[in-house]
Amino acid sequence: MRLQGRVALITGAGSGIGRAIACRFSQEGATVFVNDLIVDRAKETARLCDNSRTHLLPADVSNSRQVCSLFKAIDLKSKHLDILVNNAGIAESRERWHDLNRRAEARLAERARDGKAKTLWNVTIEMSKKNWHAMMRVHLDGTFLCSREALKRMSRDRTGAIINLSSTAALTGLPDAPHYAAAKAGVLGFTRSLAREVADQGIRVNALAPGFIETPMTAEISSTLKAQLIKAIPAARWGTPEEIAAIALFLASDDSAYITGQCLSPNGGML
Ligand code: NAD
Repeated sequence: MRLQGRVALITGAGSGIGRAIACRFSQEGATVFVNDLIVDRAKETARLCDNSRTHLLPADVSNSRQVCSLFKAIDLKSKHLDILVNNAGIAESRERWHDLNRRAEARLAERARDGKAKTLWNVTIEMSKKNWHAMMRVHLDGTFLCSREALKRMSRDRTGAIINLSSTAALTGLPDAPHYAAAKAGVLGFTRSLAREVADQGIRVNALAPGFIETPMTAEISSTLKAQLIKAIPAARWGTPEEIAAIALFLASDDSAYITGQCLSPNGGML
């Protein structure tokens, strides 16, 4: 029960990594506020966690008004907030995943045949500003807005832990998704800056940069591409959401009391 008596908000907790973190924190004794854009997903997470200590908070984390209401709802139920996990995120639409799969497979075949890719294909040239901004809104605006509200409560109590979900994409770049990689690199810069800003207030801010994890977000990646990606992972498999939740628990608990401004990257040895 490493989080006994603690209060945590997990954004995007209706699926994948966020759901696993919510369930693990709940098992460890925390009261968990489960946020997601999609109410039914959040409800399912609450059902899987200990219902008596779990509260639903549907909201869009990229919308400042909704984020303010979300924190007011927390204030009504709890006098403090100890942990914030900025996990809500998006990748590609189903249509774009299919397009990416098709093109990446064609590129692989061309490379295997001729030693280099022949088809001209540039994701950045084709990307709309709308698509670019959508990625920034959820990952960067969402992380900033929720952190800002959480900090108002945490600085008052002079304690707290914030965990931001980045990605190995931030560390290596991602040729098929430069907007995702840029957003996740922004999350890292924000994490390190905020950690320096609030360390002397007893608040720790860290990032998690997972490699490939089996979740609904990555379920659209084709089996051909997946097999190719696994070749670059020494552990020869993708990670599980529960493995990420275990590290989030470490960063949220007093076990990591002297760790701030750091990025832990569970990636099976890929980096
Ligand atoms: P997922 O798609 O399974 O879950 C993301 C959840 O966030 C969904 O339930 C979705 O409804 C919610 N969400 C999206 N936009 C939201 C918004 N504006 N407000 C509130 N909720 C919103 O994804 P996942 O794989 O569990 O990813 C969780 C986080 O981890 C994301 O930030 C993702 O970028 C990051 N990540 C994932 C992987 C991976 O391989 N799965 C790797 C590295 C980093």
